[in-house]
Amino acid sequence: MAAGARVVVLGSAGTHVGPGRMCSSYLVEADGYRLVLDCGNGSLSNLQLRCDVADVDAVLLSHLHPDHVADVYSLYYALRFHPGGPASVPVYAPAGAREHLARLLPAESVPTFAEHCRFEVAKAGDELELGPWRVTLHAAFHPVETLAPRLSYDGTVLAYSGDSAPTSALVECAAEADLFVCDSSWLERDGPHPGGVHMTGAQAGRTAEQAGAARLAVTHVLPTIDPAEVAAEARSAFAGEVLAAHDLREIRL
Ligand SMILES: [Zn+2]
Ligand SMILES: [Zn+2]
Repeated sequence: MAAGARVVVLGSAGTHVGPGRMCSSYLVEADGYRLVLDCGNGSLSNLQLRCDVADVDAVLLSHLHPDHVADVYSLYYALRFHPGGPASVPVYAPAGAREHLARLLPAESVPTFAEHCRFEVAKAGDELELGPWRVTLHAAFHPVETLAPRLSYDGTVLAYSGDSAPTSALVECAAEADLFVCDSSWLERDGPHPGGVHMTGAQAGRTAEQAGAARLAVTHVLPTIDPAEVAAEARSAFAGEVLAAHDLREIRL
């Protein structure tokens, strides 16, 4: 087992920030290696409560919706103007991420954006070696290209859905995972919801059950919905342990 490995929730809100809740981001720590999964609005504030931005070893962006990438701008400026000297980090993301994000930058910042955020194109099917983690990227089911990473290290498996509707690819991604961090945006009772976008708590629970995951962390819950209710819905469909993600919650792997 990967001793000491953990996930720190830096943003548990989906779609937009809520009071005291930032958007999607997760700090994965193992063997002194720090990987940030997604960089949603406000999450860089929570990150800096845990570590220096220059100590992040890599960033992986699941997709290019604002609630998953908005704080790449904060990351870039924090690295560029770092008091210890300019720093940089590799950013793995779907194709076109750098060009897409650069559109909001002032012209003077565009040339240095790629120096501090060193974008690398990632796609479903890719396998990455990130520090101690072997990362396999699966295709989530969402209106834009979205990556669902499965991270393995020394017998420990962490799976992250990105944003996704139910799909067999997620079951594969989370197969026998020790922890499945899963989009659980909605409550079943508020439906019907649009197809091909997100999951309800019950759908997240069913996916975790099909995957045979040990634990499910419901996250990306809309700020207008109580995460405890979403977790209760997930429990109705999943025999394993269900945790409700909240900002700065630390989950040991
Ligand atoms: Zn989202
Ligand atoms: Zn999205």
